[in-house]
Amino acid sequence: MAAGPTDESIAMKYPPQNSEPTDAETRREIAPVVCYPVTTLPEPDMALYRAARQNLTLIDTIIMPPRAAKCFRVPAGHFFRIVSVDGPQVGDLNLWNAHDLNERFYSGKTRALHGTHVSTGDRMWSSFPAMRPMATITHDTLDWYGWDADGGSVHDVIGTRCDPYTNDVLNGSDYHYCCHSNLTRALAEETGMSLQEAEPLVHDVCNVFMCTGFTQDTKQYFMKASPVRPGDYLEFFAEIDLLGACSACPGGDCSTTHSSDTAACYPLAVEVWKPAEGALAHWQGPAVNGYSGGHGA
Ligand SMILES: [Zn+2]
Repeated sequence: MAAGPTDESIAMKYPPQNSEPTDAETRREIAPVVCYPVTTLPEPDMALYRAARQNLTLIDTIIMPPRAAKCFRVPAGHFFRIVSVDGPQVGDLNLWNAHDLNERFYSGKTRALHGTHVSTGDRMWSSFPAMRPMATITHDTLDWYGWDADGGSVHDVIGTRCDPYTNDVLNGSDYHYCCHSNLTRALAEETGMSLQEAEPLVHDVCNVFMCTGFTQDTKQYFMKASPVRPGDYLEFFAEIDLLGACSACPGGDCSTTHSSDTAACYPLAVEVWKPAEGALAHWQGPAVNGYSGGHGA
């Protein structure tokens, strides 16, 4: 009999070249342990945010045209919403500390702490060495979706962003309106940097409204039509002064294809909301990370 995974295990994409040891099942049956138990994470004061969001004033609206990105600024202590306005559309979100663009959203660490998809109560963590919550998700009109039968959910921090380099590798063609390029153009326009200066500051995104997961058999990243409809929004509380950029992905609702002009695309809006005077009197923004920085040297 050919060596291979037993019925209880699932094959990798390629047949294994090594036969199983006799205790293979015992090794597989060990219960998993959560890498980062979040019981000691500082908890966001959701009651405070819930109270503050009851009385908000809209102070800015930025429209992202289809297949384009725009920057927006949110002062600490304000809320912002990514809003579906015209039709089902996915948005690729980047966040920076408005005063230091080297501190940026850290998708991988956010995923390690909160899981593959984010919703109300989860936080957007920043890169080292500051590593702190840049924003907290305070409302998600798609939280009813949960997990579907394919293992999919919305607002992932597992995808990276559609980009022209991967498109070149896979399709051998130039396409200029991938989220990576859209975000690069938007950041350059906002800051006065050249495209070459702006590009390295663009980072892995939060895929707002995108419905994604990993296939059950090969664990490959999949997408399916977003359940988002006009009026839906994902709301964040800015923990620090933020510069953000959001791209209306050329994939539209990401039901079929991206990195081309084929998919139906719609605009997105970013709304910036100011809480009432005194609503956050007892709120304090997060300090930068407490690690001493010695690295054992
Ligand atoms: Zn995209």
